Amino acid sequence: MFSDINKSIGLMVKTVEEACNLACDYCYYSRCGGLVKDLSTIDVDLVDVIIKKTISEGYNIINFVWQGGEPLLAGLDFFERVMASQKKYSKQGITFTNALQTNGTLITKRWAIFFKKYGVIVGVSLDGTEEINDKRRVDAAGRGSYNRVMKGINYLREEGVAFNVLTVVNQENVDRADDLMTFFEEQSFGFIQFLPCMDFSSHDASQPGVYEITPKQYGDFLCDLFDHWFNEGHPNTSIRFFENMLAFYLNRQPTVCIQLDKCPLNLLIEPNGDVYPCDFYIDEEYRMGNMLEDCFTDIIQHDHYKKFQQLKPALSDACQSCEYQGLCNGGCPRNRVLGSSKDKSQDYFCESYKQVYKYADQRMRVVAENIKIVWWKDYLARGNNLPNRNDQCICGSGKKYKKCCMDMVASETEKIGLK
Ligand code: SF4
Ligand code: SF4
Ligand SMILES: [Zn+2]
Repeated sequence: MFSDINKSIGLMVKTVEEACNLACDYCYYSRCGGLVKDLSTIDVDLVDVIIKKTISEGYNIINFVWQGGEPLLAGLDFFERVMASQKKYSKQGITFTNALQTNGTLITKRWAIFFKKYGVIVGVSLDGTEEINDKRRVDAAGRGSYNRVMKGINYLREEGVAFNVLTVVNQENVDRADDLMTFFEEQSFGFIQFLPCMDFSSHDASQPGVYEITPKQYGDFLCDLFDHWFNEGHPNTSIRFFENMLAFYLNRQPTVCIQLDKCPLNLLIEPNGDVYPCDFYIDEEYRMGNMLEDCFTDIIQHDHYKKFQQLKPALSDACQSCEYQGLCNGGCPRNRVLGSSKDKSQDYFCESYKQVYKYADQRMRVVAENIKIVWWKDYLARGNNLPNRNDQCICGSGKKYKKCCMDMVASETEKIGLK
């Protein structure tokens, strides 16, 4: 019944609608001000229906992202039942992955044990040191969240849970890349993701977002960050933006949607079953249907989805002639500033991207070369011979060896282990 070909889908689930126990002042999701009253959690039976419907369309790798509001408010019992449901289908050859985005304040030892047991990758929101984080990430009483978050992170560490840190770049930390990185390095945070602060509170996709930082501020921030990440050509911290840039230099596909040439199939599902193409497009104009009422084929072939899919590739003239198009692919359509003339425009952060792409280019090449040297070393250590000049290069570029790594291999023979 199931195809041999892997077909994957991403499902972002708004686990508890917008309910959250924090009241971060820039948050565009939570509307309860940190005071949760009537918690409405997605029904586990609906999760089961979603799984069944995606499987019926031939998807055999289902990547869940549990988000909120604050998904841990749903409780451990809810997630235990979700895992039991997934286990049922795993026996039928379906692979599930689970990631969860949390503010970190509710993580206990029991949660950490659960995450470890089921291989859940946890993203924890933290904006920096206590002084920086607690200016914006506060609860309803205005108390900072730092100490509670760090306690949660310690439980994750104790249980060996894979986690990453998500930092919102806002007015309080945009000029402090050095302080952030010093702190993150002290804490040995290995995986960090930065997101510029935006307010899409209207959720009206026909209106431009409101941005807290300027493109120049974000560009300067990324350049300062890059200086830390570079680490003399051998980065030891994973910063998502640079990892995705590096993918381009290594002839690999980026994983982050903004840098891809089209928006990936990553559906957002509300607790009532409504489906949207992205969490930046939760808008009736883009609603693709409802998991309880519609069949999956109709959802995925909905005109609203087709309209959404056309957004990202519709590049402005400036993007089409941009030297960084391969790296950037026009950024995110939700960030494209809508002019009154409805002309196509660039991503609000276009200047930031150009600034860092230019600033980092030479050193990105160095990092990429260092990684290729390791690849070649491994390749030869496995008993392979060097390719012939006209063979395809092993690095995945699709180019002939002579037009790709040959000169580098010749000049780095010692490092590669040829001498
Ligand atoms: S850097 Fe700017 S002009 Fe170039 S592709 Fe990206 S958004 Fe378009
Ligand atoms: S609209 Fe933007 S955020 Fe959404 S999938 Fe596309 S690039 Fe990503
Ligand atoms: Zn090569």
